[in-house]
Amino acid sequence: MENLEKPKTWVQESKRIVFFGGAGVSTESGIPDFRSVDGLYNQKFDYPPETIISHSFFLKNPEYFFRFYREKMLPLGFSPNITHKKLAQWEEVGKLTAVITQNIDGLHQKAGSHRVLELHGSVLRNYCMKCHKSYSAEYVKNSQGICRCDCGGIIKPDVVLYEESLDSQVLEKSIYAIAQCDLLIVGGTSLTVYPAAGLLRYYPGHRLVLINRDETPYDNQADLVLHESLGKVFEQLP
Ligand code: NAD
Repeated sequence: MENLEKPKTWVQESKRIVFFGGAGVSTESGIPDFRSVDGLYNQKFDYPPETIISHSFFLKNPEYFFRFYREKMLPLGFSPNITHKKLAQWEEVGKLTAVITQNIDGLHQKAGSHRVLELHGSVLRNYCMKCHKSYSAEYVKNSQGICRCDCGGIIKPDVVLYEESLDSQVLEKSIYAIAQCDLLIVGGTSLTVYPAAGLLRYYPGHRLVLINRDETPYDNQADLVLHESLGKVFEQLP
């Protein structure tokens, strides 16, 4: 394990920490990420995951979409880990202004965080495309075939599919939080999914810490890079 004196001091000194994370934040809770060796992209399906979880595929082949979605993308019954919990504590003591996440699992809120900006939506919200009635994730999980509303309309999970754009308000709030923060910690993301990955460029400071098991295209732009597991680092931070 590398020397953590620098990030420990930075966390102690900071008053407006922003954490920007991805699927790697939840792997230690048991939810697989997309791109690691044992991640979703290395499993065999009839189509690549990007195709199945795209807007056009959802409309063209909803039955297949829901089969894949229920089996692989609906992480219910998992608990927050040390990283989720410590971020919630920082918020509680007034040190952290936002968690910006690409995850759709709701684990930051489950850990107690309120200031969560969900760039890619959440599996916990689901709406009928016809009458807009809302449904729980459990309803979607337990449904069969195409998930339908009482009115007959198709229920769409409130997650951002490929070909769909991000919520502009969430994006604006994320940019604002990053532009104002005094410490930006980026973790558990391959930084390959856009426009989310592009948010890093709004950080004007010199305390950008990147914690990721694998290398990322942004390693050379960070002030400190830790190729470690998030849990190992976070359990040692104040
Ligand atoms: P990704 O799968 O592309 O990359 C995850 C990165 O995290 C990898 O580089 C890996 O090395 C690293 N990592 C994995 N476990 C780690 C750990 N314990 N400590 C440190 N690093 C770790 O994930 P992404 O960049 O978030 O992009 C994938 C997209 O998939 C996102 O848009 C997200 O919406 C979605 N997704 C979400 C979930 C979830 O909600 N939990 C799970 C899978 C995918």
